Amino acid sequence: MTDAAQRILQLRAELDQHNYRYHVLDEPSIPDAEYDRLFHELKALEAQNPQLVTPDSPTQRVGSLALSAFGEVKHEVPMLSLGNAFEDSDLEDFDRRVREGLDLPAGDLFGSVEYSCEPKLDGLAVSLLYENGLLVRGATRGDGSTGEDISVNVRTIRNVPLKLQGEGWPQVLEVRGEVFMSKAGFEALNARQLEQGGKVFANPRNAAAGSLRQLDSKITASRPLEFCCYGIGRVQGDLPETHIGILHALKGWGMPISRELKLAKGAQACLDYYRDIGQRRTSLAYEIDGVVFKVNSLAQQRELGFRAREPRWAIAHKFPALEELTELLAVEFQVGRTGAVTPVARLKPVKVAGVTVSNATLHNMDEVARLGLMVGDTVVIRRAGDVIPQVVQVVSERRPNWSPEEREQRSVKVPEHCPVCGSAVERTQLVKRSKGKESFVEGSIYRCVGRLACGAQLKQAIIHFVSRRAMDIEGLGEKSVEQLVDEGLVNSPADLYALTFEQIVGLEGFAELSTNNLLEAIEQSRKPTLARFIYALGIPDVGEETAKLLARALGSLARIRQALPEVLTYLPDVGLEVAHEIHSFFADEHNQGVIGQLLKHGIELQEEGDLHPEFAASTTLAGFITKLNIAFIAATGAERLAAKFGSVQGIIDADWLDVRQVERLSERAAKSLRDYFDDPANAQHALAIENQLREFGMHWQSERKQLEGLPLAGQTWVLTGSLEVMSRDVAKDKLEALGAKVAGSVSAKTSCVVAGPGAGSKLAKANDLGVKVLDEDAFLAVLAGYGVAL
Ligand code: NAD
Repeated sequence: MTDAAQRILQLRAELDQHNYRYHVLDEPSIPDAEYDRLFHELKALEAQNPQLVTPDSPTQRVGSLALSAFGEVKHEVPMLSLGNAFEDSDLEDFDRRVREGLDLPAGDLFGSVEYSCEPKLDGLAVSLLYENGLLVRGATRGDGSTGEDISVNVRTIRNVPLKLQGEGWPQVLEVRGEVFMSKAGFEALNARQLEQGGKVFANPRNAAAGSLRQLDSKITASRPLEFCCYGIGRVQGDLPETHIGILHALKGWGMPISRELKLAKGAQACLDYYRDIGQRRTSLAYEIDGVVFKVNSLAQQRELGFRAREPRWAIAHKFPALEELTELLAVEFQVGRTGAVTPVARLKPVKVAGVTVSNATLHNMDEVARLGLMVGDTVVIRRAGDVIPQVVQVVSERRPNWSPEEREQRSVKVPEHCPVCGSAVERTQLVKRSKGKESFVEGSIYRCVGRLACGAQLKQAIIHFVSRRAMDIEGLGEKSVEQLVDEGLVNSPADLYALTFEQIVGLEGFAELSTNNLLEAIEQSRKPTLARFIYALGIPDVGEETAKLLARALGSLARIRQALPEVLTYLPDVGLEVAHEIHSFFADEHNQGVIGQLLKHGIELQEEGDLHPEFAASTTLAGFITKLNIAFIAATGAERLAAKFGSVQGIIDADWLDVRQVERLSERAAKSLRDYFDDPANAQHALAIENQLREFGMHWQSERKQLEGLPLAGQTWVLTGSLEVMSRDVAKDKLEALGAKVAGSVSAKTSCVVAGPGAGSKLAKANDLGVKVLDEDAFLAVLAGYGVAL
């Protein structure tokens, strides 16, 4: 056998295997770019040796056999693949072949060919059969002639019409299109899968295919799938004579089609379209791997006909791949601002979508374990949009046969000591609460315990502290921070306020003017708002929004510092986990020292004040009892207990018989309650929270009692457009202080909409629904009417 013949056999076997994994199992082991390279190598070899082409070669066939677990569907009109163009010249060649096929002379003198242009969605092809306007069957492409019956599953996709709208549709109409998952849907699904210990998908295509081809349609229904239609199959009845005409007709009958559908005349216009979509690729809501050009006239399509696996009248012009193969050279550990020690992959440099990638994030050790990474592995790297490149998969079949010792050596281990400061590295603990008890489980993050004694953490902490959205000290770049730390001039954020002219002017890149500017900027930063200060402290998991929330709700640093985790969980979006982070940050002696020093250096917090009325009103005793998670005590039981006893102390003091007398409280529940409070630790803990709430001025109340007395209680307001006199945030605060709820969208229940310049759909909706609309002046007048100062 010749070398070529041997290589052809080898490539076919390999491609068959990849086709099976990709099309049947929805679990490819190599990126598409690698598949395409193998496919093109085979194509080129077959072109040089036409006598070796056999009908079973992957170059002659579409997809792969259907999975027998589904019923079979025969496609009367085969579902084909598409030829590919990678370079502009491939597309020009395609246009030339089309013109030759249509007997059109070369050059544009005799008119250009009209092409429809559509994005090439990266999902899977599906056929939907409508009879008399009703959806009767859904099928996958399978091997092009036989697909799988997935009728039940396609019905769960929300934008697939079960019935065609309007009239004039053909009696039998087979619609073809792509089922796909948006980028946001994919991220959300993976986050959910990770949380529930389910399968994490490498990319949106795999997620879409894996979700649609489920034997249990309930799973399909729970996945964020969408459909976009791009063509037709079998038809009995009349349709327009152009591709774009057909798609518009389908749209009229309720079929989703691409918003990017365009007509282009000639190859040049197609290339313009390719570039335009290419530039917008990352901002589209869904992933695409290219664009598809189709001869628009159906008469011309018929004249051109088909080749073995693809039409002669269409081509996919591919974009650079988002996934590539490379080698994992090493895993190093980086120390971040909060001490998190995170693994980073060092890679053999590889070009992914036009950019050379040599590092990729590995998130945490759970992710390393999930991937099963070993140094030296061949890995799939993915770079989608501006997201940091990620390792999505190990190509296990390319792993050499390492000995057990070698495997041990190549496995990824967390260092016992911080690579920067040598302090111990500890695994974080997560707080869980079940059956009224808190317990700790191991988290996925490792932390260096060195805190600000760790150079890496100190540098990052200072860089964060001075950043624009934190203390906003202009003129102190990363390099200068590094120098200040390395030379021992700054050992904590508080030291910034003791820097002298001489110390700064001695730094690289500083002269007299810049030194004075920096000193001035440091001076200026002494009066931050409470929210900025909290954010600047760099509490793990506390971003700008949470910092604002803490400041707005609790009103003072003193309260935030003391707040018990449970009290913090009354803040919207603060869970027990974050609440514990905040609490332990302030409970830590070292951090207390830094805050004390900052205050000593003359930091004067602005915008400190009272507890926010809505926050104060958010604590009901019943809600608190429910939060304690006592076995058999649910929301209604808690409400009855609250109504009878009025406080935690009241419940603790009550005797067993009293508890039993609570209306419809079962004996089991009463016993569980008693057992819970009989444990002194539980009783003390609950009382400490009750006391703290009282100290903060948050008295137990029946639902929203405090709001009831407020003038706008019970009303829902919506703010839209831009306001000039006050920001929307401030307006929101003022409204909430008057007892109103401020919502993000308009409904019939909205009491009033404040619309500034630039208001759009919300204003239109308010007008449609007849909701009262105020401009900013009228709004200010309302506030003034309630005596609210501006
Ligand atoms: P294809 O995906 O390159 O093109 C055909 C498909 O494009 C159609 O079936 C349809 O599903 C889709 N499509 C999207 N938008 C469209 C539009 N507007 N009009 C028409 N079709 C549109 O070809 P294929 O035969 O489905 O699969 C081959 C590709 O799949 C290869 O290029 C390869 O990248 C990938 N693949 C990868 C592996 C792997 O192991 N990684 C294995 C097999 C195939």
